[in-house]
Amino acid sequence: MVAASQENAMEKKQDSRKILLSIDNLRVWFELRRFGFGHAGYVKAVDGVTFDVHQGETIAVVGESGCGKSSLMKTILALHKPTEGKVVFEDKDIAELTDEEMHGYHSRVGYVQQDPYGALPPFMNLKRILEEPLIVGGVKSSEERMKRIYKAMEEVKLTPPDDFLQKYPHMLSGGQQQRVVIARAMIMEPKFLVADEPVSMLDASVRVEILKLLRGLQESHNLSVIYITHDLSTVSYFSERIFVMYAGNLIEKAQVRQILDNPLHPYTRALLTGTSEPDAKNAETFKELPPGEPPSLVNPPTGCRFHPRCSQAIKGVCDVKFPPDFEPEPGHLVSCWLYEEE
Ligand code: SF4
Repeated sequence: MVAASQENAMEKKQDSRKILLSIDNLRVWFELRRFGFGHAGYVKAVDGVTFDVHQGETIAVVGESGCGKSSLMKTILALHKPTEGKVVFEDKDIAELTDEEMHGYHSRVGYVQQDPYGALPPFMNLKRILEEPLIVGGVKSSEERMKRIYKAMEEVKLTPPDDFLQKYPHMLSGGQQQRVVIARAMIMEPKFLVADEPVSMLDASVRVEILKLLRGLQESHNLSVIYITHDLSTVSYFSERIFVMYAGNLIEKAQVRQILDNPLHPYTRALLTGTSEPDAKNAETFKELPPGEPPSLVNPPTGCRFHPRCSQAIKGVCDVKFPPDFEPEPGHLVSCWLYEEE
């Protein structure tokens, strides 16, 4: 078993692909202000998160609503500033990018939102929606812009493109709207994609199609993807590793099959109870999710943040000491005192 300090070295040893994105001890805290009384504490949305993403790697970040996964995603997209720690993309700390470099960063990182209708400007037709990032990204030739628009529409299977270019978002189905969102995310030919619950608001009938589309794009463009979801049943479509997030911390990190076949953290086991993943061999043995809500991120519990809901909590240990990462099997990291070396 290993402590967290050895984790990055281990990830580098196990995967020879180039590291594209490094998250280093990231904390994202939001200050609470009480009218008339000033500072009233912090919402600790992300609290000490470290991981690397390799070129072409796909990672699913899973957890309940309010666990901090959206704040993590927005910090990677440079929409929030880190309170502490770094987001390093292609060896550059994004907090130190100039305005011009930040434009370049946003071209290299695509974003697929959860709600396609809300993500698309209602008064723009598809041509304008897809052309705007190209203009902002400095593609001056209108001929080149149209070439890229046609290519992106064909890639997301909005074909023939001429049938769609003059349409407005409300004239499309939910699945077609999400294809436009994906085309817009891909139009600057990014290296990295953040997909925030990209199928959770779609009809069940089109979810698989959209996941297959994302998988195809990931493979053909060798994209790195962070797929944010609360639904473990969809992660095996295109994720190599799963990171489980709880109350601002990553509490389990491993290859998809390791987690689906042998979840170690009591919280991950509880999450898997509700999944329809057909190959989760141990599903019938998982305990039900304990009663209670995720803890307050303003005053999280001492020790392990899951201890108030955990049926296996060790009194005097779990409620006192924060668990580091242990590695009970190669490449499978879990933050839980049950796996402390004897
Ligand atoms: Fe449960 Fe303790 Fe493990 Fe936390 S550290 S998940 S409370 S057993």
